Amino acid sequence: MGIDAKALVSERVTQGSGASKVEAGAESLSSELCALSSIQAAEAKLLLGTYDRYPLLFTEGSGVYLRTENGTRYLDLLSGIGVNALGYGHPAIEQAIVEQSRKLLHTSNLFFHEGQAAVALRLTEATGLDRVFFSNSGAEANEAALKLARAYAKLKRSEGAPLGTKFLALENSFHGRTMGAVAATWKDKYREPFDPVMPGVEFVRFNDVDDLKAKFSSDVCAILVEAIQGEGGIRPISQEFFQAARDLTRSTGALLIADEIQSGMGRTGRWCAYQHYGIQPDVVTLAKPLAGGIPLGAMVCSEEAARAIHAGMHGTTFGGGPLACAVALAVFETIEREHLLDHVTAVGTYFHEQLNALATNHSAIVDVRGVGLMLAIELDSADLAKSVLREMMKRRILINRTSETVLRFLPPFILQKEHVDEGIAALNQILSEQTAVAAAAPSSGGHNLGQ
Ligand code: PLP
Repeated sequence: MGIDAKALVSERVTQGSGASKVEAGAESLSSELCALSSIQAAEAKLLLGTYDRYPLLFTEGSGVYLRTENGTRYLDLLSGIGVNALGYGHPAIEQAIVEQSRKLLHTSNLFFHEGQAAVALRLTEATGLDRVFFSNSGAEANEAALKLARAYAKLKRSEGAPLGTKFLALENSFHGRTMGAVAATWKDKYREPFDPVMPGVEFVRFNDVDDLKAKFSSDVCAILVEAIQGEGGIRPISQEFFQAARDLTRSTGALLIADEIQSGMGRTGRWCAYQHYGIQPDVVTLAKPLAGGIPLGAMVCSEEAARAIHAGMHGTTFGGGPLACAVALAVFETIEREHLLDHVTAVGTYFHEQLNALATNHSAIVDVRGVGLMLAIELDSADLAKSVLREMMKRRILINRTSETVLRFLPPFILQKEHVDEGIAALNQILSEQTAVAAAAPSSGGHNLGQ
């Protein structure tokens, strides 16, 4: 006998007081809750207001397409913010979920299960590192990295090395929302409402080697970088800056932490984006696509850094559970079997070329950035970027805007050239229309097309 969740929700919502009540009897509301407007009303009453969602209700997906409750199909060039690397309904993921859910979902980290060592082996091979801690999310993987850096510095101090407790992070960085990870996240709006967040983080100007050198000292226990900043607007770190961060940390024994949560697991055509630079960090964090849509994160570190952690110092109830590990293994095997790293490089190069061609026809595109299937165009105004995003949604193509003026593409790795063409044709049409609108309204001054 199953629980009628919709009836339960409708009953609870209608129990609310007076004006805030969702209008309708429990029976009719129960069926209406299938529809977007009813769910919006229920969420507005029941959920913490953390999200400003687009008014779309997706109920299923297949390949690179999502479908709404009434069957409208959307091309997904965002993949759940870089999570659904194998798209929707991939048979390897379905099979792993079905088989593992029949066997065992959870045991806690008090006991062994079959999955962790198998995924850890894959992760150490993919990163060139030695030991893995599993978490449930990206922020938690970074939290583990920050704690490791502090513990390692303490160990080094006990061995006579003068390592401090400070972290250096980069302008425009994004490392997550927990108190430690958010402290290393650049934008004030993510940190200030929660002050004081973890103290001891200093921000370095992006790709400014002099600023890095000026701020680095033996007080620093770790430098955090994203080889390609994601939320910060798909900004690749420079070779010179990355090398300087590596050299400085080596000179004192501080850790170099690469946050590969958005750029890792093959999104740039290599397992990790730092591999394009030939630089080996001491710690790597991964999450998003790791288990193809099931929550899983990982902090992977060197044997040397791992000396600082012993049993009981850190842990999690859910992290690295049997289901997430079974699916992560299926993701690794599928990426290899279907040669998806090469595919990401090929289709990503094609996508990049098409974006470059678009930029030559539209002066409003001021930059094209990214590697593999982690791509972006920067437009000359935030209003134009908002407007293009809105028009793309009307044409049933999902992309995302970040850093105000940047339109970001993080499609599933299984994307084909014809999907790229569909996206580019829509962008071309929209940018032509928007330019025409702007030209017809000289008083608006450029691309001030927001509503
Ligand atoms: N680090 C990077 C580079 C990210 O892009 C994100 C999320 O967007 C995070 C960390 C945080 O990951 P999560 O949202 O899984 O906590």
